[in-house]
Amino acid sequence: MSRTADTHDSIDPPEITAESIQHLDDPRFTSENVAIVTGAASGIGRATALVLAANGLTTIAADVDEDGLHETAAKADDLAVEGVLETVPCDLTDDAEIEALVETAADAGQLRYVANIAGIQHIASIESFPMETFDLLYRVMLRAPMYLTKLALPHIRAADDGVGAIANMASVHGHYATRDKVAYNTMKFGLRGLTKSTAAEGNGNIRAFSVSTGYVKTPLVLDQIADTADERGITEREVVEDVMLGQARTSEMMEPVEAGNLFAFGLSRHGKHLNGDDLLWDGGFVNTYE
Ligand code: NAD
Repeated sequence: MSRTADTHDSIDPPEITAESIQHLDDPRFTSENVAIVTGAASGIGRATALVLAANGLTTIAADVDEDGLHETAAKADDLAVEGVLETVPCDLTDDAEIEALVETAADAGQLRYVANIAGIQHIASIESFPMETFDLLYRVMLRAPMYLTKLALPHIRAADDGVGAIANMASVHGHYATRDKVAYNTMKFGLRGLTKSTAAEGNGNIRAFSVSTGYVKTPLVLDQIADTADERGITEREVVEDVMLGQARTSEMMEPVEAGNLFAFGLSRHGKHLNGDDLLWDGGFVNTYE
């Protein structure tokens, strides 16, 4: 398959630089206003927390992985972000911890934004899929976003202008299904339903949208490349192009900061007319074939 050329090496772990962060002109992007970002100890969640903090917001970076959160905070210091990045350990399978997270965010200023990004994967056929694993993916990837939305909405409605937004990390797997990912596919389709339901009750002031990407260069994905190459007897470049990029017309996977920039754009005033739908940034993966 021919693809557009790109100068990056696909397999390099990406570094978030100040230059890679998109800065948006939005009067609400100040440290009085607060964004919760889940999954902020790694990958796309970390990048999104850094982008929002660099855009001036007070960002509550939440994750179950405390070591990873410390690295996110250190990176915020390196980047000298304009806003504030505060870390909050939170296990999204625990309702009391979700409640405490929202309370911390509300104490930090005017809660306006939530980015539900935390996620996990499990590969198994439907017949062999462990039900407790299905329940775990449900709790982290669908129930927790719903509960965070439920708890955040009253805070956002109480803002002087009632403006805010909830963003949910979906995937190309929220558009089609691949085999052996029944829980992941189901939760990503479910998140798109949660997004539309939130838009329906947001009265236009409180918007909701999802972000769908193909494979992004996060530790989770990059760590699979060497093993997959060994298993299939192909080169690492072939894993990237033939397995991970699939039908996409681009030759490189996205970087986490590019996904973070999308979240910031959608949450900002520039996303004013984005409500209930999805930012499908997949290099053509879903909509092209052969
Ligand atoms: P990642 O593994 O780098 O980050 C996921 C984070 O979620 C981790 O820091 C992990 O600790 C956190 N998490 C897991 N369980 C948790 C829990 N119980 N409580 C709190 N936090 C928990 O993964 P990533 O690649 O950055 O993926 C982030 C999101 O993006 C996921 O929802 C994933 O489905 C989605 N996504 C990823 C890709 C990709 O190619 N990387 C593509 C499309 C969508």
